[in-house]
Order: sequence, then C-alpha cells, then structure tokens
Amino acid sequence: MKPPPFEYFRPASLGAALELLAQRSDAKPLAGGQSLIPAMNFRLAAPAALVDLNRLGELAGIEERDGRIRIGALTRHAEVERSPLIGRKLPLLAEAMGHVAHPQIRTRGTMGGSLAHADPAAELPAVMLALEAEVVLRSAGGERKVPAEKFFTGLFQTALEPGELIVAVEIPVPGPGSGSAFEEFARRHGDYALVGVAVQAWNAAPGRPGRVRIALLSVGDGPVLARRAMERLEAGSIDATAIGEAADLVADEEIDPPGDLHATAAYRRQLARVLVGRAVHRLHRLHR
Ligand code: FAD
Repeated sequence: MKPPPFEYFRPASLGAALELLAQRSDAKPLAGGQSLIPAMNFRLAAPAALVDLNRLGELAGIEERDGRIRIGALTRHAEVERSPLIGRKLPLLAEAMGHVAHPQIRTRGTMGGSLAHADPAAELPAVMLALEAEVVLRSAGGERKVPAEKFFTGLFQTALEPGELIVAVEIPVPGPGSGSAFEEFARRHGDYALVGVAVQAWNAAPGRPGRVRIALLSVGDGPVLARRAMERLEAGSIDATAIGEAADLVADEEIDPPGDLHATAAYRRQLARVLVGRAVHRLHRLHR
C-alpha cells in the first residue's frame, strides 16, 4: 500500500521545526516512522505534510542531572536498551525495552514517537507512569512539563496541543531501597503484549514494600495506574496474602480490558492477576 500524497519538510533546527508546526496545523512530526508510516500506508492517517525530526540531533541522547535522567525524544529504543546508565539507574525501563517490538524496529523507533503515539498496548507509557516521569513539551510559544499520569488522556490520545513537540522525558532516579519488575505476556516475543505490568518500589525493606507504583498496559484505553492495589500493598507487611489481594483488586476492580480477536476480556483479567502477582513476588524476593 502507498500513502496519499504529502509534503515533506526536513528542518535543520528545533526552532525551525516548531515554526513549521505552528504554521501548518495539517502537518505531523515524523520520528522513527515505525507507527506513522504504516498508518499512512494503510490510509488510517493522511497528514498533508510531514515534519521530519531526524536531523534534530539536539533532541537525541540520555543524560543524568540533579537526580533525574533525561531522555531526548529522538533517542532510539536501541540506545535506551543498551545504555549502561539506564541499566544501572532505571532497571525497570531497561527490563521493559527488550519487549518493545523487534530489534529492527528498536533501531528506528524513538522515545518521543512511542509516547506521542500512546498505543494502549505499548510498554513505554506504562513504564513512564510507574516511574513518575514527566514529559517535556515545547511549542513556538514555550515549554511545559506534564506528569505521565496526566499526559496519556485516552485511546491514542495525549495532552499534546497542536504545534507542540515532545522534546524529552525526565525520570527521577529511584535511588537506594528501590526495586522494580516488568512482566508481560505476548503471543510471540516482540508482538504487542496481551497484558503487561510495570512495578516500581521506593524505600523498600525486608517484608515492607515501601512506596509502590503499579502500571498496566493493554487493559484499557491507555496505561492504567492500579491505585487500590498500590494502597493495599503499602498498607502493611508484604506477604503472599497481601500480594494475592492486590492482584485480585487489579483484575476484578481496577481494569476494563478489551476483548478482541487476540484475547477475551476475561482472559486479559486473568493474565493481569497472574502477572501482577508474579511481578510483586519478584520485588518481594529482592528485599528479603
Ligand atoms: P513515528 O511512527 O515516527 O510517530 C508516531 C506518532 O508520534 C506520530 O503521530 C508522530 O506524528 C508522533 N510523534 C513522533 N515524534 C514526536 C515528537 N517528538 N513529538 C510529538 N509527536 C511525535 N511498540 C511498542 O511499544 N511495543 C511493541 O511491542 C511494538 N511492536 C511493534 C511491532 C511492529 C511490527 C511495528 C512496526 C511497531 C511496533 N511498535 C511497538 C511501535 C514502535 O515501538 C514505534 O517505534 C513507536 O510506536 C513509534 O515510534 P516512532 O519513533 O517510530 O514514531
């Protein structure tokens, strides 16, 4: 399939890209093209113009500053996956990266593209929710930061305004006493997951989970924060009963999974129960 005709711009600076986007409400940014180009080929998207971000080296790279890790929007998935800094400081993100599509796609796909696309089955939105990340947005008019929790607003929907670009994501480094686990189930490795779960804990100690965030993917219109399960785990000591109750809360009360040709809603609920239990058991073992 071929896309409908479109104009193509390849600005050399972020300022020029933002100017173009301010002038052309019918234009879309192009990053790795791994979601946008197939959507155009299938004629699910038909932007009149593309603003290619691939010359904007200033949008790529990973750095640590003031207890936060900043990942530029144009940073490829493969770079995040292989980064020793991410491996040491953000093991949840490092663990999840290997589940994002296939190696070929990870060499092109970008952090900003994944977050802007906001596929409810994507790993990175849920991981950013679990890690309390902030998404850094810029337009010709200025910059603002939006917590991940407020950035994902619905099915393929985000808080991005017309003319705005994601320039980076900033993630607080969890620090000592932290632990994490990522679990997902896909029919084949590299496929979009039927269900996935990202769990991050801070200030944990033997038998005590500390503060916990549990975020799920593929169980609703966007990434889902399992607040009641988080409260259940934080309420007391962590043991098999607490973990089982938290997993039941997620599966029975906190998610509204879709049923489709890949899995029924009931099957996804049961998967969520199993995967939350598995992830929190792993966390618990880390701190025993
Ligand atoms: P693009 O395709 O270039 O853009 C996607 C959208 O984001 C477009 O609307 C574009 O306008 C917008 N955009 C891009 N950059 C910005 C920016 N900086 N600011 C504002 N808007 C922007 N993803 C997963 O998470 N898990 C998977 O298992 C998975 N499996 C895949 C399997 C296949 C076969 C394929 C083709 C893709 C898969 N993907 C998966 C998607 C992949 O991770 C993409 O890389 C990602 O969704 C989009 O990133 P991109 O850089 O390619 O964005």
